[in-house]
Amino acid sequence: MDKKVVLITGASRGIGASIAKKFASLNYNVVLNYIHSKEEAQLLKNELEEKYHIEVFAIQADVANEMEVEKMVEASIQKFSHIDCLVNNAGIAIDTLVEDKKITDFKRILEVNLIGTFLVSREVAKYMLKQKKGNIINISSTNGIDTYYPYSLDYDASKSGVISLTKNLAQEYAPFIRVNTIAPGWVDTDMNKEMDEEYKKEEESHILLKRFGKPEEIASVVAFLASEDASYINGSIIRVDGGLK
Ligand code: NAP
Repeated sequence: MDKKVVLITGASRGIGASIAKKFASLNYNVVLNYIHSKEEAQLLKNELEEKYHIEVFAIQADVANEMEVEKMVEASIQKFSHIDCLVNNAGIAIDTLVEDKKITDFKRILEVNLIGTFLVSREVAKYMLKQKKGNIINISSTNGIDTYYPYSLDYDASKSGVISLTKNLAQEYAPFIRVNTIAPGWVDTDMNKEMDEEYKKEEESHILLKRFGKPEEIASVVAFLASEDASYINGSIIRVDGGLK
């Protein structure tokens, strides 16, 4: 029987790369999307193919670019003939003082995090609806639910938007495609690598588990949502934040 196929956006690094590893370990073929990190994507492809005997299709596309998204999804369908699960993980943040916010940065954040999530979902859903089956998992953030500090207000708005998008798409695609969102708290990835130690300690003190999450701890919840064990979960937002207060 054909292997299941997952398309993961922003899978060259961080949480997306962990999600790719998790699905590969579950015997999925993987479409591994990235925008800049060609070498990292190629290395991950080689690692997963060798270790799990699955196929990985690494493809460059900017999720905010409609034409590139259409081409990516078409090429993925040509390669594997179906997509069973989509993980909208690609995301960016540009934190600055509110008074220094540039509108170009603000727009780019919305375009990648929110409109990108919509674009890829719309394109993949066309095929999932034909199959009358599918799964979409969006990566939002606890910043999309609660307000912590205003330096990331543009990012927070984009992630709130992802939650709204999730509920709307779950309604639109029912009963064929389940659409859910994960809202991670702090996770140790490149996104937070510039954070100063003092600030990190302060943030950890607000987490019941007293530490940042690992990318694998997000990936395992994504895999659960994609599985039949989650067959009655739809239009939901699941916090994975170690108990962030
Ligand atoms: P990361 O380490 O910075 O990785 C970001 C990934 O997104 C990279 O693979 C990057 O590709 C890709 N990407 C960025 N812009 C893209 C675009 N326009 N088109 C396609 N791919 C693009 O980030 P991360 O921490 O793993 O974050 C993954 C997701 O989790 C994001 O949506 C983020 O908002 C969310 N999240 C993260 C945290 C956290 O604390 N880390 C917390 C809550 C939510 P290249 O490598 O090619 O640049």
